[in-house]
Amino acid sequence: VFAGIAQAPEDPILGVTVAFNKDPSPVKVNLGVGAYRTEEGKPLVLNVVRCAEQMLINDPSRYKEYLPITGLAEFNKLSAKLIFGADSPAIQENRVVTVQCLSGTGSLRVGGEFLAKHYHEHTIYIPTPTWGNHPKIFTLAGLTARTYRYYDPATRGLDFNDCVMALSLIQDLFFLTGLVEDLSSAPLGSIVLLHACAHNPTGVDPTVDQWEKIRQLMRSKSLLPFFDSAYQGFASGSLDKDAQPVRMFVADGGELLMAQSYAKNMGLYGERVGALSIVCGSADVAVRVESQLKLVIRPMYSSPPLHGPSVVATILRDSEMFNEWTVELKAMADRIISMRQQLFDALKSRGTPGDWSHIIKQIGMFTFTGLNSEQVAFMRQEYHIYMTSDGRISMAGLNMKNLPHLADAIHAAVTK
Ligand code: PMP
Repeated sequence: VFAGIAQAPEDPILGVTVAFNKDPSPVKVNLGVGAYRTEEGKPLVLNVVRCAEQMLINDPSRYKEYLPITGLAEFNKLSAKLIFGADSPAIQENRVVTVQCLSGTGSLRVGGEFLAKHYHEHTIYIPTPTWGNHPKIFTLAGLTARTYRYYDPATRGLDFNDCVMALSLIQDLFFLTGLVEDLSSAPLGSIVLLHACAHNPTGVDPTVDQWEKIRQLMRSKSLLPFFDSAYQGFASGSLDKDAQPVRMFVADGGELLMAQSYAKNMGLYGERVGALSIVCGSADVAVRVESQLKLVIRPMYSSPPLHGPSVVATILRDSEMFNEWTVELKAMADRIISMRQQLFDALKSRGTPGDWSHIIKQIGMFTFTGLNSEQVAFMRQEYHIYMTSDGRISMAGLNMKNLPHLADAIHAAVTK
């Protein structure tokens, strides 16, 4: 009965690893997938995670019973605290409902389905460019995905004009450009997806001042923020600092959705640990929202897994383990920052044409190199270097050994 089925294309991001695995070259480098690698090119399990797992294994009181539909209650509480802050007014007023979901992707999907069922506006604005899975997640959840301008290739920065923004407050839409124009012309109440920090794939984040302007604009048009936080701690190396934009939106008392992932910042990729929080207008609404989230989750996967959130809760509840985590997280972030500097220096020393300062300016796991798809194909063919076709490279996959090879490849691609 399935004889006529068509072959589906590979996922554009995960397909890079499939091609990489097939390449027999000893010098091949995979810069496609956003997963941390050590200086030796190996995946990393954080020491604090190993300790937490050991504690869980040694605890005879632990069973493998089902979790409730909404997941591990303590994990949910600690996750909300981690992103919104311990002193968050929304938490204190019991206006936050948090449910454990299947990593960041599952949190986005559950949030999307909830909105499709219960929110009056079904259009979600996502930045261009964005993580390739975003449009698919929200479309399949039942929303309509539209885009807003985010990245300006000419400046390799945010497509955001502060002067124009100031003018627009007294003039009209005529003066607006880029991100501000697109959000200003979105229908009232539309949903807007915002990368909380370390924007993927561009590595370009708004400044605090720009965030404040985005917040004012969005609140003035009742646009509903849906934050995606997949890299808390990876942008600045500080968990609190990376959460600042989100906390600015919570501080104004308005509503928002938040999808959190522990894949990158705790290295729990395959454990699929994440959380969806919805900040509501009142405690009473939060109770009803939670009851509806259960109806979304129950027929989807019934209840989430137990191991991952137990590891996270073990670490977050203990101040010593928490501190150890922040040290290990900072070490990962710092190694990436040092790779940025070294790649920049390597291109400079080769005299590679072009301004490569964006490599050190961009933030988080990725560099949006500016290489075009032809150059990307050339580097794969001739140098066995694998990246997504938009020229995004995962800085976490670089080390002292493969970095000169990458610099040679970029130089050759640019000068050929
Ligand atoms: N959002 C963004 C922006 C991401 O880059 C990722 C991971 N690449 C995710 C969400 C979700 O990842 P996961 O489902 O593994 O937590």
